[in-house]
Formats: sequence, structure tokens, C-alpha cells
Amino acid sequence: MADFNDFNESDEIELNEQELIIYRQRLLDRQQELKALSESSREARSAVDLDQSRVGRLSRMDALQMQAMEQASENRRRIELQRIEKALALMDTGDYGECIHCGDIISAKRLNLDPSFINCVHCA
Ligand SMILES: [Zn+2]
Repeated sequence: MADFNDFNESDEIELNEQELIIYRQRLLDRQQELKALSESSREARSAVDLDQSRVGRLSRMDALQMQAMEQASENRRRIELQRIEKALALMDTGDYGECIHCGDIISAKRLNLDPSFINCVHCA
């Protein structure tokens, strides 16, 4: 049990151990979710060519459109996953909660909204 009395003079409140555990769990849960979504959409993203002989022209266009949408979703997931991995790495080095650009403390409100934020509202 830590018994620190050395709070710094800053107005910003640094994250405590408990909050870090909660944010880490949220990041890990989201990471799992994104990986599962990515896995389940793999077929949708790659099935078009395989089905070419079976589907008509219009449905093939639908399929291509679906594939493009899936690809776009996948790209967004990939970007979010990268942010989550970066946030988890910052937790390991003890730098989590500070903006990677300016070093300011990221507000609890912002982290609560999305624990994968690694920059402050000014540098977003
Ligand atoms: Zn910043």
C-alpha cells in the first residue's frame, strides 16, 4: 500500500493506481474487441474474387462496395489498435496520462471518454 504525501503543486490531478488499472483494463478489452471484429470481417474483406463466378454483376458491385466499406472499417480499427498499443506501452514506462506532444497532463474527462488518447485536447 502506497502512502505518498508528495502530491505535486500542479492543479492537474495525476492518475492514481486504481484509475490506471481501470484504464488498462478498458484498453485491453477494447483491444480484444477490435481484434475479434477484425477477425470476423476478414471473410467479408476478401471473399469478392472467390465468389465472382457465382454472383451476378449487380450483386458483385454490392459485394465490392461492401468490401470497400469493410476495408475502411478495418483501417479505422488498425489506427485505433495502434493508439491502444501506444497507450499500453506508455503505461509500462509510467508516462501514461501525459500528452506525447507537449507533456501536459491529459484531463481525466478526456481519458474517461477514451483511455487510448495519448495527446491533450490542444494537441489533438
Ligand atoms: Zn499536448
